[in-house]
Amino acid sequence: MNTVARLPDCNHYLDRGTATPLIPVRLDADGPTIWCKLEFLNPSGSTKDRIAGYILHKAVRTGRVAPGGLVVEASSGSTSIAMALASAQLGLKFLAVMPEGVSSERRMMIEAYGGEVRFSPRAEGILGALAGAAAVAAERGAFLPLQFENPDNPAAHRGRTAQEVLAQIPGGCVDAVVSGVGTGGTLVGLFEGLCDHGCSPTAFAARPVTGAAVGGAGAECCSFSGRIPGVVDGPSTIYTRFRAERGASLVEIDVRDDEAVDLARRLIRKGFPVGPSSGLNFRAAMAAAERLGPEARIVTVFPDRMERYFSTELFARAIG
Ligand code: PMP
Repeated sequence: MNTVARLPDCNHYLDRGTATPLIPVRLDADGPTIWCKLEFLNPSGSTKDRIAGYILHKAVRTGRVAPGGLVVEASSGSTSIAMALASAQLGLKFLAVMPEGVSSERRMMIEAYGGEVRFSPRAEGILGALAGAAAVAAERGAFLPLQFENPDNPAAHRGRTAQEVLAQIPGGCVDAVVSGVGTGGTLVGLFEGLCDHGCSPTAFAARPVTGAAVGGAGAECCSFSGRIPGVVDGPSTIYTRFRAERGASLVEIDVRDDEAVDLARRLIRKGFPVGPSSGLNFRAAMAAAERLGPEARIVTVFPDRMERYFSTELFARAIG
């Protein structure tokens, strides 16, 4: 019989049905076990590969960007790095607009994937980068993923990340999902995906607060801390809408920023090469375990890798 050999699907990993691991992690002998999704193992080193792949595949499929077309993202972080890689894989051009002063490692990663970096004035912050991206997009007819408002961001996690968790967790359901919020895509998507499957989880949003505030009492207690990259206060319509609609299933947990950084260092020494937000997420998951009891199946994510933070305070002690 004359059969035509099917060629294997080459050059892809973690985007053709391969899941990131979900690992039970316990730091202290008497501490809770937390199920941690190792998102730093995604190809460009962060969970943002999921939304970048999903958003850009869909944009190509639906004709919102033509082959060889331009994608523009206003972000200095993991999303631009992931968008640069996904653009390279899809034969698209990529431009990141970011405020001056961003670490050179980030710029180099984007350029290694064939992307271009343009700087906006440092004093204008992320708003300047957003305005710059919008101007380029208008001028050159580029596609803007707009991760803070694009419903395809949570949809990527709802469709894939949540399904992976359901297949990986013993018993097939989860009692709590825990994550710091940037766009909210991870927390909202995971939560909705688990609900789609008939689970009734509680969503815990981890909110970093300034260490100095934590003596407990005091008017200044618990002001939001910007020390944890990727976790931001405010601009996400995805999260704001979720809080308005699903408030009864949502708990916001304050975590001291210094505890978050310390925990990231402990996780690194346990063999999880993570960034600061993984420490934040793990600390909040421990607090969730205290509320829900030892039997609760609690899932969180380790969003990105420690190498992204060599020039930050995460490594300050090692340098000193
Ligand atoms: N980037 C990093 C590095 C993070 O740690 C987090 C928080 N988990 C985020 C982004 C926020 O994810 P999302 O945008 O899905 O809320």
